[in-house]
Amino acid sequence: MAKCVRCGKPATIYLEGLRFCEDCFKIHVEREFEEAIEGHAIESRLINANDRIMVAVSGGKDSMVLWYLLHKFNFNIVPVHLNLHYGVFSEKSVEVVKKFSEKISKKVLIYSVIEDFGINMEDVFRKAKNRPRCAVCGVIKRYLINKIALDLKVDSVATGHNLDDGAATTLKAILNWDFNTLSRNYPLTPPYKDKLVKRIKPLYRLADAELKAYADLLGIDYTTEICPYKIGRVTLSKTKDILNEINTQFKGVKRTFYYGYLRNNTLFKKDEVEL
Ligand code: SF4
Repeated sequence: MAKCVRCGKPATIYLEGLRFCEDCFKIHVEREFEEAIEGHAIESRLINANDRIMVAVSGGKDSMVLWYLLHKFNFNIVPVHLNLHYGVFSEKSVEVVKKFSEKISKKVLIYSVIEDFGINMEDVFRKAKNRPRCAVCGVIKRYLINKIALDLKVDSVATGHNLDDGAATTLKAILNWDFNTLSRNYPLTPPYKDKLVKRIKPLYRLADAELKAYADLLGIDYTTEICPYKIGRVTLSKTKDILNEINTQFKGVKRTFYYGYLRNNTLFKKDEVEL
């Protein structure tokens, strides 16, 4: 039987070219998370002492693991969920975040796009019928999350973007020579005047499969409900599949590719910030 790369005991988890026993896998995930907080590969800490961090929790596995880890490591957090009112998808998401909040005795603030902001997403989609729904929804979510963060006067907003998200977004941007995306696809987006709150991605060193395995191992609940507006397979998901295919042939290349981009970020940095 194959052995764990850390302790030599029989391995039960095979991910990203590495083999672990369950205990060492947990240590590996938590070590990567700590290294992300310290800013490995980007040479800039994501979280400073005394920072108050708003965690944007959707109810999916990534944001639930992020919430769990920030809580486990005793960071000063304010969990926030934005209810989009997308039928069963949103109902399940609210259920999962409420249940987890009760389990760890940490209050989650739930905002409703309809009741708190007077936005009916169906109406918005109808008015913007020539634009992809995810693009419209994404802009509104980012705007509202930033607005909530400004109102709550937090130091930063943490989101559950992982290594696969970062690497696939980079590859897709390179294929399209999309310098705008390449200039800002980092785990840390600094604040801008009094308009944009600092944004951080503390899971940027952890792959999709690692986060799923970690959530399942620790019994962290998450929703697997698919958004009703996610039509077909979006380009980013296809790019992720292609990257994972290459990663199977050339072990670790996904990580090397993304960290290489992060280390060379000055190549794409823009002087002017566009709001
Ligand atoms: Fe919004 Fe659904 Fe698209 Fe996600 S999948 S951006 S929730 S419309």
